[in-house]
Amino acid sequence: MIIVMQHQASAAQIAAVVARVEQAGYRTSLIKGEERTIIGVIGDDRPIDRTQFETLDGVDKTMPVLKPFKLASRDMHPMDTHVPLNGTPVGGPHIAVIAGPCSVESRAQILEAAQAVKEAGATALRGGAFKPRTSPYSFQGMGEEGLQLLAEAREATGLPIVTEAMSPEQVPLVARYADMIQIGARNMQNYDLLRAAGKSDKPVLLKRGMMSTIEELLMSAEYVLAGGNARVILCERGIRTFEKYTRNTTDINAIPVIKHLTHLPVLLDPSHGVGKWEYVAAVARAGIAAGADGLIVEVHPHPTEALSDGAQSLKPEKFAQLVRECRQVAAVLGRS
Ligand code: PEP
Ligand code: MN
Repeated sequence: MIIVMQHQASAAQIAAVVARVEQAGYRTSLIKGEERTIIGVIGDDRPIDRTQFETLDGVDKTMPVLKPFKLASRDMHPMDTHVPLNGTPVGGPHIAVIAGPCSVESRAQILEAAQAVKEAGATALRGGAFKPRTSPYSFQGMGEEGLQLLAEAREATGLPIVTEAMSPEQVPLVARYADMIQIGARNMQNYDLLRAAGKSDKPVLLKRGMMSTIEELLMSAEYVLAGGNARVILCERGIRTFEKYTRNTTDINAIPVIKHLTHLPVLLDPSHGVGKWEYVAAVARAGIAAGADGLIVEVHPHPTEALSDGAQSLKPEKFAQLVRECRQVAAVLGRS
């Protein structure tokens, strides 16, 4: 349920309504708009008798939030949420461009990649230190040493770092180095991990599971939000379909649907979405045109030598071209 306060409601009236809601055993989330304040009532799914709040001083009306996701819902929070990432908010007029290799492989590789993506216009550096691999015999990532190298690359370029945590125990370690914690597609419904990310003060990049619906993605975001971390960014990264020519099928539909259902920013990962470097730029342009708040793109200085996802990784010059093209698409929509 949300409680919409009257335009002229005083701070004391708002505080009294909040106290009454909390007395009834619910938590509150306060959204201060330009016009009026909305009080989100969170907790137990059982129906609330809304009339008990409608007569309180300063209350205009109450409305049920019928969707299963509450804090993530646009009903609860009509304005777009902007998630800060080293000063440049994600979700505003500026398109975020997170780029870098799939995995951190060596000092030389990550420093070269970081410099190259920065020169091409990236706003953040990606690179996995803990890698979720289908095969236990594949490269599993450099672990903490990889995180240290990412921190060195941040030092050298000023780019904030986005990197994955795979288990609840890894969250505090990853948070010590990273500016944003990635939760990967395979872990989208790892509820202990979501709860741990909810306790972190770092923004969370939550990727859609390859076999998950949009509603399931939003329910997973709800775990992080309900845990106390309001800084959640969603990411469409392609879903599994019957099509075999590409690695996954980018669900472009998801971008406007997610923007409609939630106030949280949404990024597109065209690299995992299509899985072949030749098509990455076209899908990236489509994502910006569809309203994505940013991109996360795999870029490797020497893709043929990559220890993971080389086939979908762009060489730096191709990435620079992608950024130039996406700038033009963004400009049509009044974004930069
Ligand atoms: C990645 O970003 O390298 C990754 C493993 O992505 P996903 O979880 O979407 O497969
Ligand atoms: Mn990858």
